[in-house]
Amino acid sequence: MKDTYDSIVVGSGPSGAAAAKKLTDEGAKVLVLEKKKLPRYKICSGIIFKKSQEITERYFGKIPDSVYVKPKLLKGVRFWSSDENYSDWPFSKNNEGAPNIWRSEYDYWLISNSGAEVVDCSEFKGFEIENNVINVHYFDSSKNKLHQVKCRYLVSAEGSKSKIRAMLSPEFERNLKWFIAYQNYYEGQSQLDPYFYHGFLDQKYGEVYAWFSVKDDLQVFGTSVRKGGKVFPCLSTYRQMLEKVHGLTLKKLIRKTSCLGNNMCTTGNFYLGKGNILLVGEAAGFLNAFGEGISCALSSGLFAAEAICTGSKPGADVISVYTELTKKERRQTTVSWKLGAKIAGRDLMPL
Ligand SMILES: Cc1cc2nc3c(=O)[nH]c(=O)nc-3n(C[C@H](O)[C@H](O)[C@H](O)COP(=O)(O)OP(=O)(O)OC[C@H]3O[C@@H](n4cnc5c(N)ncnc54)[C@H](O)[C@@H]3O)c2cc1C
Repeated sequence: MKDTYDSIVVGSGPSGAAAAKKLTDEGAKVLVLEKKKLPRYKICSGIIFKKSQEITERYFGKIPDSVYVKPKLLKGVRFWSSDENYSDWPFSKNNEGAPNIWRSEYDYWLISNSGAEVVDCSEFKGFEIENNVINVHYFDSSKNKLHQVKCRYLVSAEGSKSKIRAMLSPEFERNLKWFIAYQNYYEGQSQLDPYFYHGFLDQKYGEVYAWFSVKDDLQVFGTSVRKGGKVFPCLSTYRQMLEKVHGLTLKKLIRKTSCLGNNMCTTGNFYLGKGNILLVGEAAGFLNAFGEGISCALSSGLFAAEAICTGSKPGADVISVYTELTKKERRQTTVSWKLGAKIAGRDLMPL
């Protein structure tokens, strides 16, 4: 490993992979730090929307078969306004369907093809800046050792709980409101159409919303409520409804997972960075309605890389360039939540 890079990207999800790919394509020396062992599990429904698929194919190539689950393509979202009534929203006009994938495999494929040097089990811990050089500290849990590396640009692709964002602006962090998402994977079966992703909008199943899909014959369902809210009563009411109304029978529990998200996306309160430190993906607040976040993670990663490449010229300001480049994407994120609220007939993030 070298100890000086043009850019260091923290996080190996889609936003980090996209930033790393574009930077290396432009000839930069890039290091990606990932705190988990790769390929790492990521809580997600794993649906690749059209825009995500287009960006993926343009920059990384065709999504390999090894990344897909069964059923391979989903037709659309089935929104349930009550236990029996639904409306269908197809994923594409030509009914091609959207790829149904495991995030562990998709993300690992992306980052492995980014051209960057990737080190896993390496958690970002902090930084200091001296003479325009950023000195990054990280902890290598495989060797139980602290390391330091230097770079000119630092990209936080750490997801919703970005340490870098909290370090840059503790006050911004204090004002955030959080939700918790909880997801279970079971062996079993149900009568819900496995070719659809199902969203249940009745708030008794989750203050944000509740969802169901099938992945490699596993019954995957989850819900989300405000942090500190009553997630388990909601999940239990939801599960009982799925059992009673939709014939869900559960055999063996395979995995239980949870994560935190925040209200940056719904409030339009993005945090794009400071100086030569840029935030991308969920770290910056990019997350569309109903939790679709891969497309804006990829595009914000690409925009950050473009800003670094064009904004690094004398007299240019990288954050201003990045702010301008993401204008449309930020507007789309905000609009998507308004549209989502229309579909749901209520505020989708009542935090
Ligand atoms: C239940 C659920 C279902 C979803 N379903 C979909 C879906 O079907 N389709 C879709 O498009 N979106 C979906 N999303 C949203 C999507 O998962 C996220 O928006 C997307 O993963 C954001 O990408 P990212 O690169 O910003 O962050 P992440 O994918 O979260 O990646 C962040 C990475 O940074 C690493 N990291 C964090 N901190 C550090 C640190 N200090 N040091 C080193 N590494 C660090 C993490 O381990 C992680 O690997 C879903 C989200 C949830 C919660």
